[in-house]
Amino acid sequence: MNYENRREFALDLDKRDSLARFRDQFNFPRKRNGHEPVYLCGNSLGLQPELAAQFVREELDNWAHYAVDGHFNTDRPWISFHRRATQGFAQLTGAKPSEVVAMNTLTVNLHLLMASFYRPSASRYKIVIESDAFPSDRYAAMSQLRMQGFDPDRDLIEWSPRGGASELHVDDLANILERQNGSVALLLLPGVQYYTGQVLDMPAICNLGREAGCAVGLDLAHAIGNVELALHDWAPDFAAWCTYKYLNAGPGAIAGAFIHDKHCSTGNLEQLHGWWGHDEATRFKMRRSFTPAKGAELWQLSNPPILSLAPVIASLEIFGAAGMPDLVAKSKRMTGFLAWLIDERFRGRIESITPAEDRGCQISLVVRDKSIDAAALFDRLGALNVTTDWREPDVIRVAPVPLYNSYSDVFEFAERLQQALTAI
Ligand SMILES: *Cc1c(COP(=O)(O)O)cnc(C)c1O
Repeated sequence: MNYENRREFALDLDKRDSLARFRDQFNFPRKRNGHEPVYLCGNSLGLQPELAAQFVREELDNWAHYAVDGHFNTDRPWISFHRRATQGFAQLTGAKPSEVVAMNTLTVNLHLLMASFYRPSASRYKIVIESDAFPSDRYAAMSQLRMQGFDPDRDLIEWSPRGGASELHVDDLANILERQNGSVALLLLPGVQYYTGQVLDMPAICNLGREAGCAVGLDLAHAIGNVELALHDWAPDFAAWCTYKYLNAGPGAIAGAFIHDKHCSTGNLEQLHGWWGHDEATRFKMRRSFTPAKGAELWQLSNPPILSLAPVIASLEIFGAAGMPDLVAKSKRMTGFLAWLIDERFRGRIESITPAEDRGCQISLVVRDKSIDAAALFDRLGALNVTTDWREPDVIRVAPVPLYNSYSDVFEFAERLQQALTAI
């Protein structure tokens, strides 16, 4: 697509945007310092869909009107409430419905899944992460190693970008696995790298892991609702994601997990059990013995927090209505516009470190011109009511999301970035 550096060009794209109607279904933050909001931070916390607020209110009403009967005797009984997220999760992740479940929060799910899939032996016990892994994933992997009597300093292996660059190369991961010579038990890697926005080659990672005989777990926090996924076919052993970033389900909302169905029918895996992983048909007979539920639901422990699940269900409904193929098509055009505008207006001063061929909606900007104080620039953007996010040491992450952002938001971002630059 040929882009133009004019507001009318952006407005014209907005007029022809078949997804534009979704914008009105979201609540945007307040006007500040006289400026309308430019919100490009869906990678950190997605905006609130009005439907989410409605769904939460409905469950508050059900609780008020039905009390304990809400578990069984309403249109949407709480006993099976988590299943209302199943179809949507399966669609967004390219999984079978039996392979996904809504439960807990992301880091909790990583631990629960590692309890099943990180089962080290004396000869195969190392965990591979990437060198800029999200801290929670790193801490989770380190503590799993320690729990099993291993030493994170020695046994946590890092896949790093090549000297000074920020891009990860799958060849380097292959080399690590070869060098480690059968001692790696688990690859715990993201679908989209949170800092650079690079989309990793998930099918290649899954193949490498399989060939090397290790378990593969994908953290899809920045991938779900952002890029197309085909988990069943790629066949990682497990995956987990949160729902408050691109899925717009609100702070701390219930997360999701995937367990490939090759593991679900064998009965070979151990998992930590609770009553919600018990077969639903006989759960309330309160027996002493445990009858496993089928599929990913076996990993559930507790009855889920309905009020944090309701917004997830609302959000999945919106994604279903918009459809990932259209969202991804718009995302490519819109982020392409952003990258083009940055290059056109700020070349040499501000640059994207996100690989153009392997990105979702996020681009990560670094200030190359050393006379510009990047942190001050970020603060100045905030004062102009532009919401992006800052990651130490010098990255500004900008994520126009196709559900509620417009091409005009992107153009306005470039305008205010220019203003911020002249003001500092
Ligand atoms: C956002 C994010 C998390 C956050 O974990 P929570 O358990 O939801 O607090 C963890 N890992 C990655 C890769 C993330 O992007």
